[in-house]
Formats: sequence, structure tokens, C-alpha cells
Amino acid sequence: MALGLYIHIPFCSAICNYCNFNRGLFDADLKARYVDALLGEVKRAGQAGTAGGARRSADTIYFGGGTPSLLEPTEVARIIAACRDAFDVSGDAELTLEANPESVDPDKLTALRSAGVNRLSFGVQSFRDAELRRLSRLHDTARARAAMDEARNAGFDNISLDLMMWLPEQRVDEWLSNVDAAIACDPDHLSLYLLEVYPNAPLKDDMARARWSQAPDDDAATMYVTAMERLEAAGYEQYEISNVAKPGRWSRHNLKYWTDGEWLGLGCGAHGTIDGVRTKNVSGITDYIDCIARGQPVTSDVRRMDADERLGDALFTGLRLVEGIDLDVVQKRYGVDVWRKYGADLARFLDAGLLRRDGHRLALTRNGMLLANEVMTVFV
Ligand code: SF4
Repeated sequence: MALGLYIHIPFCSAICNYCNFNRGLFDADLKARYVDALLGEVKRAGQAGTAGGARRSADTIYFGGGTPSLLEPTEVARIIAACRDAFDVSGDAELTLEANPESVDPDKLTALRSAGVNRLSFGVQSFRDAELRRLSRLHDTARARAAMDEARNAGFDNISLDLMMWLPEQRVDEWLSNVDAAIACDPDHLSLYLLEVYPNAPLKDDMARARWSQAPDDDAATMYVTAMERLEAAGYEQYEISNVAKPGRWSRHNLKYWTDGEWLGLGCGAHGTIDGVRTKNVSGITDYIDCIARGQPVTSDVRRMDADERLGDALFTGLRLVEGIDLDVVQKRYGVDVWRKYGADLARFLDAGLLRRDGHRLALTRNGMLLANEVMTVFV
């Protein structure tokens, strides 16, 4: 099975008020040292994965963050070259880089394309300036649209946009105007996320101070369902709870997470799963750099999952896909008849119209996607 390589770039120009990711403020010196450390980890990982002189194959590289577009294109090129040295990266590999609209310009995008990046994922979040300000984002709508145009002109033919729904003060019609604006930009792929306001997020205080609130839960459900319908009418296919794409443009890297695949997590705080072993790297940027410099392991957690956990995980993540889980494949891989093991618990979700069983496939309905967490507790 070909690996996915996830590469974490933890730097941001400013910290958004809702952010719960592993990131820190950009510092040019620290970033240069971090990139050197990453190159060291890539090399190590390649050596560790070499079996009988053969490099492990990989078919996706994903730069996530943080804000990977704060890297210089030459740094991106060095990291990609290190991956190609350490792994047998297929010629048609998907190479994605997450980008924020304010951190790119035409020259940078052209250089990133030349460096081998062939897919961009833009963190747009909203096409309404007032909403972007409430989220303390650094870009405005005009910059987001310009970044998309610049990326097309730079030769990117595979572009994804992230949008967030259920923003403070956002009404259903305002959210749908964001969806329409996104469709007008003609991306190849879209990810739609519900804003989650974490208890310690500065946004929570901002909301209390400004008396902003989120729409009622029923409106959040309407936002989700109506957006999916609108995107489907515009030619996008929903393939996962939060993701839609034009035909042939599903995210190959993210599919590894949902199809029981294998990926290596590189960089601070990165998670990986290979052959039933979960790894997590140390979270701190300087801790990570120090580990590499001292020749110490960068993993802070390495755990072999037991058979039940692997099965539960495969079912939990597989149900995120619209096509659901192939019960025959699960039986072959794990030797478990899912229906016999979980059928009694799943029956009530089938009766309630949240799950559908179609021959050997089990999948969530769209209403089931709204209550996915509840359904998935069966497997945890
Ligand atoms: S740009 Fe993304 S990773 Fe960085 S602070 Fe904002 S939400 Fe977090």
C-alpha cells in the first residue's frame, strides 16, 4: 500500500481567534531551522522504512499547517526533493499545499508550481468581509478571489477551498451567499466545516464582548443540507461528510484517512498510522528541532492498536465517506462480520433513517451525517 506523507508546517503570520491547531507565530530564523530539521526527519524516516534496500512507495505529499504557504518555494522544493530521495514517490503523486490567500502572489504561486506542488488548498473560510473580520483572518474577499485567479494563471488545475459555516452572527442566507460565491470561483474541490468554538478560544471572549451568537442548531443543519444540495446542483459530488469535488478531484491524500490507509506524519505534532501503529511527534517547534539535532526520536507517542481498535477505527472513519463501508472488505481484512458484531446497535439508526444498508455496503444518509458522531459511538 502506498504511503501518504503528511508534512506539518506550524507557522502563521497571526493567530486566528478560533484556532485550535498546532501552530506558532512566524519567525524567519526558526522557520529555517525547522525546515532543516524536517529534512532530517524525512531522511531518517526513509531509512527506517527501507526494506531489503527498497524504498517504500508514496503517492501523496500533503503540506498542512499552520500556513505552509509561508515557506519559500525553494524550501518546499527541498522538502519535496528529500521526500523523493527517501521514498519512491510516484510520478503522478498528488502534492498538496495549504495556502492562505494573503501569503501568496503570482510569482510565489508560479514558483510553487515549478517546485512540484500540483494541488492547492486555500483557507478562504468566508466570502463576506465582516465574517472574515470576526474570525480575525488576515485576508479579505477580494484577496481570496485574486489568489484563486493567480493560482489558475500559475498553472494549478486542482484547487480546493475551505469554507466555514455557522459563523458568529451568520444567517442561513448569508452562509448560502458564501456557497454561491465559492461556486462562482469554480474550485475543483471544497471542504465545508462547522465552526467549533473551543472553550479557551479568544473568539469565545470576542463573542461574549460583542454579543455575537451562532444561529440555532436547526439553522446549522439547514446550512449544511442546503449547501450540499446547492453544490450538487452546480456539478460537485459530495464524497465525504465535509467534502465535495468535481469528478476525479477527490483528495487522494485525505482518502487515506478515510479508507484505512497508511500515512507518515512528519514535523512537530504530526500524527501517522502505519501497519496498525499510531505515532505522534512532539508538539513544540523547538522541542522538535532539538530532538532532530540530538539524534533522538521525535515521536512522543507510539502505540500499536489492538485488533478491536483497528476495526473500530476503520469503521468510524469509513462511515465518513458517502459510499460508506464495504462490509465484505472489512470481513476479509479483519475477519469480522460487522453486522453480527454491531447489528443490534446499528438497527435503530437504520430504522431512524440515519444509516442505509445497500447489499454489502453500509453508509450514513445525509440526515445521518448531521448526527454522525452519535452513530459512530457504536464503534468506539
Ligand atoms: S491560519 Fe489556520 S493554522 Fe494559522 S492561526 Fe489561522 S486557523 Fe490557525
